[in-house]
Amino acid sequence: RRDAEFIRRWLGAAAEAITRDASRLTELDSAIGDADHGSNMRRGFTAVVAALTEEPPPDPGHTLLVAGRTLISTVGGASGPLYGTLLRGAGKALGDEQTVADERLAEALRAGVDSVARLGGAAAGDKTMLDALLPAVAVLPDYAAARQAAEEGAKATVPLRARKGRASYLGERSMGHLDPGAASSALLVVALAETAA
Ligand code: ADP
Ligand code: MG
Ligand code: MG
Repeated sequence: RRDAEFIRRWLGAAAEAITRDASRLTELDSAIGDADHGSNMRRGFTAVVAALTEEPPPDPGHTLLVAGRTLISTVGGASGPLYGTLLRGAGKALGDEQTVADERLAEALRAGVDSVARLGGAAAGDKTMLDALLPAVAVLPDYAAARQAAEEGAKATVPLRARKGRASYLGERSMGHLDPGAASSALLVVALAETAA
């Protein structure tokens, strides 16, 4: 079963990975966006770690809610509200249980990813973060399989034409590039798998 500390460790590991890869994420965004995805994500996840350290919520649900709210309030780009909605949606689904089974956490994350799809109106194959997130949450709670699915899903965005977000303005010129949000989503799923292992 997973507690609040598990979620804090996951988001802490995600923050480290994002900080380490921030310049790569920004470089990906410079090809098909506005070159700020790495700095957006680093700012957001640094604030998440600070918020959760300052006043750690008692349960997994509230930990995810605080993290989501923090992303929404600190990240100006599209990714802030989208990742914020993912974490808030998952947190809401968990309520105030002290510990949750892996299967329940998986369901909550699926609910969070569904909220992202509703908010952004994107579907699989639109070359967004959902191309990494959807196949990953589909195989949870098999964490190792989710990691592989997210990494493959992100890579598979390269030939796609972007249909949502800033990259969609490029039309066919968005093809041949890895989607930055799919790349950061893969980092989140890798961090989850490593924390769960
Ligand atoms: P911005 O585009 O506002 O500068 P970021 O660069 O931080 O924001 O994030 C861009 C990423 O957000 C994209 O690579 C894509 O994965 C994701 N994204 C953009 N629009 C959507 C959407 N409607 N649905 C899902 N993901 C989206
Ligand atoms: Mg951007
Ligand atoms: Mg931007």
